[in-house]
Amino acid sequence: MDETVNPSRLASLAGDPEVASLVEQEFDRQSRSLQLIASENFTSEAVLEATGTVLTNKYSEGYPHRRYYGGNRVIDEVEDLARNRLAALFGADHANVQPHAGAAANLAVYQALLDPGDTVLAMRLDHGGHLTHGSPASITSKFWRFVDYGVTPRDDESPSSERIDFDEVRDRAKSERPRLIVAGATAYPRVIDAEQFREIADEVGALLMFDMAHVAGLVAGGVHPSPVPHADVVTLTTHKTLRGPRGGAILSCAEHAKAIDSAVFPGLQGGPLEHVIAAKAVAFKEAATPAFAQYARDVVANAAVLGAALADEGIRPVTGGTDNHLLLVDLRDFDPKLTGKEAQEVLDLAGITLNRNQIPGDPRSPFVTSGLRLGSAAETTAGMGADEMREIASLLGRSLRNRGDAAAQDVIRDRVRTLCGAFPPYPDPRGVRPA
Ligand SMILES: *Cc1c(COP(=O)(O)O)cnc(C)c1O
Repeated sequence: MDETVNPSRLASLAGDPEVASLVEQEFDRQSRSLQLIASENFTSEAVLEATGTVLTNKYSEGYPHRRYYGGNRVIDEVEDLARNRLAALFGADHANVQPHAGAAANLAVYQALLDPGDTVLAMRLDHGGHLTHGSPASITSKFWRFVDYGVTPRDDESPSSERIDFDEVRDRAKSERPRLIVAGATAYPRVIDAEQFREIADEVGALLMFDMAHVAGLVAGGVHPSPVPHADVVTLTTHKTLRGPRGGAILSCAEHAKAIDSAVFPGLQGGPLEHVIAAKAVAFKEAATPAFAQYARDVVANAAVLGAALADEGIRPVTGGTDNHLLLVDLRDFDPKLTGKEAQEVLDLAGITLNRNQIPGDPRSPFVTSGLRLGSAAETTAGMGADEMREIASLLGRSLRNRGDAAAQDVIRDRVRTLCGAFPPYPDPRGVRPA
């Protein structure tokens, strides 16, 4: 094994056994259980390496060639590389790679484009929208007035139900006259049509922001249509399907570039995380390769197989399936008494990691829920394919059906370990060890 490869960085942590042990435990958890959280992925080793560099030491408030402190000649090149690669990857006029997270990117856009009290039309949280799209628990709802749209109700006779209700989007836009319309979601398994949103925004004279946090990697890989030609501003996370380090970014047309940059710094943040920006640059280069395009196709194909196999287990995918990397499943047909919370806990014991999620019209609270959200992005990176997706669905169904039976869960957990052992996300720096 290559001695320089050390994804969990255990060797350099020898002086701090407490942290080293925790990193090792997490390395093992990620390697030995199924990672099906739709917003997670396994970065490349190059991304991990870049994140752990001396670039973390440098203060670089401002933007390349306009910094407040000295000593930024190299850092300027790093950030220029990252923003040029990002703008080229998505064909945008302007890129800002400084947001520490997707939430910070969204806040910066609101700050750049809106005045306090302005109206924003965004997707309902319990229909798939994100906290930063106006949740009462988010600061966004305290500064701006959010109104919402949702998906059409479930109708088993109609194959296109539970999709974004564009009639409602148009009606709400006409009656509420928002200054900004937000498209994009955190739990929506279908393509979001930016062109339709653009038409509606134009009809009411609103700006359009597309939050592609989840699907940025699918857009980069060419399997989800790009919102960039249609939206005034596009926000993204770099760590979900795009498979980079944890962080956010903003793409915009030239007209909004200056306002966006000022909103990120000094509006919201201080010094940028240049080690993370270097890792973002690495990820953007990776995402421009044919291998990444193939990855994106595999992610979508795997999610489709997983969805069909879950349906065979009696676990209904909301909208009947998926176009992207994620599935939202409705547990009520499978077992009306089984909540998302309980299902998540049972599956966790079996080594199947995913999250409970409200489904559209969920009668249960966001803490309990009647659904689960799963994604194929991480385990596709680890190399799993259609056969493994079918096996995952079968293990998941067995685990939920036998949820009172500890012996059955042990058998499932062993099988999950064996499956994960055949698809390690990283080489183990400690060499081969018994599971
Ligand atoms: C994940 C997500 C975000 C926030 O990203 P963080 O990096 O967790 O702050 C914003 N919008 C959407 C739609 C998301 O899915």
